[in-house]
Amino acid sequence: MTIEVPDDHPRSESLHTRHRIEDGVDAGLTHKQGLIAEGRGEAFDYLLGERTIPSADRAERAAAAHLLRADHPVLSINGNAAALVPDEIVALADATGAAIEVNLFNRTDERIAAIADHLQDHGATDVKGRTADARIPGLTSERAKVAADGIHAADVVLVPLEDGDRAEALGAMGKTEIVVDLNPLSRSPQVAAVPVVDNLVRAIPNIAAHAHDLADRSDDERERAIDAFDREAALDAAEAAIRSGELD
Ligand code: ATP
Repeated sequence: MTIEVPDDHPRSESLHTRHRIEDGVDAGLTHKQGLIAEGRGEAFDYLLGERTIPSADRAERAAAAHLLRADHPVLSINGNAAALVPDEIVALADATGAAIEVNLFNRTDERIAAIADHLQDHGATDVKGRTADARIPGLTSERAKVAADGIHAADVVLVPLEDGDRAEALGAMGKTEIVVDLNPLSRSPQVAAVPVVDNLVRAIPNIAAHAHDLADRSDDERERAIDAFDREAALDAAEAAIRSGELD
């Protein structure tokens, strides 16, 4: 389904994003619940001024440094992420050497396969998650099912639109978690080592751009990007930006 959105519409980016999620539902990539998640995200993005605030840019740089430094980084992908930014996910995996794994709350073999195929159509060479031969301890939802050589073995995991329970369980496994979520009050950014309060459509390409930049720099500079990032300050800055009501 293609819906025309005039480019001069003041919120054309947001409307394009909404239609990509609708198309994702039609294509069997995104669960109907994904439409509700998109609605929540739109509300917070509106309040943030639909822009990457400076603290989110610093989080994105720290996220890139973590992914580059990791021994076994993994991008955990759900139906919304696959519908919104498939090319950008593949580019980020290429830029950081991260593996891609499909992981779903509303898990069915059909949807796992549809998302993995979709990412491969967009250039991914290896997509994990079709076989989930390990579990995240302490979690009863379908999101507990992971690949033994993917999320289960990862030291750094990037999780866009995570649910709070799994975010906590991954943290308890000792993994460094990068969460992209527009709501700074949601449990998942609250427990993440690197909370990225930004829209996925801006965050994923910006993390890749930082990764390209940091790849050419010294280990020290990458360490500095990690050490200079203050997660509490970033969460406070995002909340303050929302409360200020200043939309530029
Ligand atoms: P939690 O269990 O952490 O409290 P939740 O129930 O608030 O999670 P869900 O409804 O499961 O959250 O998922 C929606 C979340 O994803 C919301 O916090 C929303 O702001 C965020 N979100 C939706 N779309 C985007 C997007 N494009 N980019 C970033 N975040 C998004």
